[in-house]
Amino acid sequence: MLDLQPVLKFFRMNKTDNKNTYISKGVDIISAAGQESIEKYRKKKKYMPSAEEYLEGILSGNRTILGKAITLVESSLPSHSEIALEIISQCVKYAGNSLRVGITGVPGVGKSTFIEALGMDLVMKQHKLAVLAVDPSSVITGGSILGDKTRMEKLSAEEKTFIRPSPSAGSPGGVARKTRETIILCEAAGYDTIFVETVGVGQSETAVHSMVDFFLLLMLAGAGDELQGIKRGIMEMADAVAITKCDGVNINNAERAKKDYENALHMFPAKESGWFPKVLTCSSRDNNGIVDVWETICEYRDMALLNGYFLQKRKEQARFWMYETINQSLESSFYNDRRIQKLLGNYEKKVINGEIAPTAPAKALLEKYFTRHWLKYRYRR
Ligand code: GDP
Repeated sequence: MLDLQPVLKFFRMNKTDNKNTYISKGVDIISAAGQESIEKYRKKKKYMPSAEEYLEGILSGNRTILGKAITLVESSLPSHSEIALEIISQCVKYAGNSLRVGITGVPGVGKSTFIEALGMDLVMKQHKLAVLAVDPSSVITGGSILGDKTRMEKLSAEEKTFIRPSPSAGSPGGVARKTRETIILCEAAGYDTIFVETVGVGQSETAVHSMVDFFLLLMLAGAGDELQGIKRGIMEMADAVAITKCDGVNINNAERAKKDYENALHMFPAKESGWFPKVLTCSSRDNNGIVDVWETICEYRDMALLNGYFLQKRKEQARFWMYETINQSLESSFYNDRRIQKLLGNYEKKVINGEIAPTAPAKALLEKYFTRHWLKYRYRR
């Protein structure tokens, strides 16, 4: 018979009625005996907290429990996905009360330095900040462009922040979906500002754009190459462009780049939100213009809340993610089906050799897949 008392005590001790109060002690305040018992359960792999226990930990603002819940969300194990879904479903009721900001830019533009500078300012103003990364390269290479170096050291040491690198498992599309679910957990944990950082190489920006309220593009000033490196589509999504490293000998370049971007943005069609994208310059090194970027974000939020666009966009995003999840789940279920995998190879050869038209195997395989799954479903009932 398992003795759950130490674990329950752990959750009870970390509970607080005030959602905004962050308790950093987490695991540390359990007695040595309690810690030992938890370790014993962990080793035996028999004890897994329930969704309610996770929820309680998340709502109390416990970063350790929040981190563990996110690990479940990111996991591809079927046994984890059930409890992860339960945790997310419960957290949804407490989510939505944050300002979600997407921050993108090519590697080296100064994203982490900028996030650290702005983040420290927000923490000083008593905000609770979560920084999440979306980096599809981490899935393909196992390493991550965003996570390889030691980043945001000062910010990571702050109690009011939660920094989570990009998951390095799953599919590139799945990484973004998991980040969207992580936002929900962070909001339930009381984070009022969420930064979603992405690498700005064009793979994940659309997905990130569909989960944030404001999309900030960081750009480097360069001699004549201002519009290079970033695809037109990403520029079009931006609610603001901030030219980074506007300091020292770079100030004139940055001011010139600002004018170029302002002209470029005028060419794009007006935004549905009624907002006209702004171009700013900033220096994280000298802490110049950082607060102006934040003020622009707040100005947008106030305008969008007033004209109803803010909530309308959130509703559309929720709808988008429902369909996106269905699409991704169907796709992965189809391609992970062993029988389909066996047949696919043969069909592929025939299609390549011109023996059959591509539509024929597509239709045959889908029919096989749905018949099989329909029968499985009937049999289970
Ligand atoms: P990321 O790859 O986009 O996250 O870029 P980093 O924040 O790591 O910055 C890349 C390099 O630019 C680092 O060497 C930083 O020290 C430098 N950097 C970042 N912000 C500034 C800035 O405001 N001014 C100057 N001069 N250098 C900066």
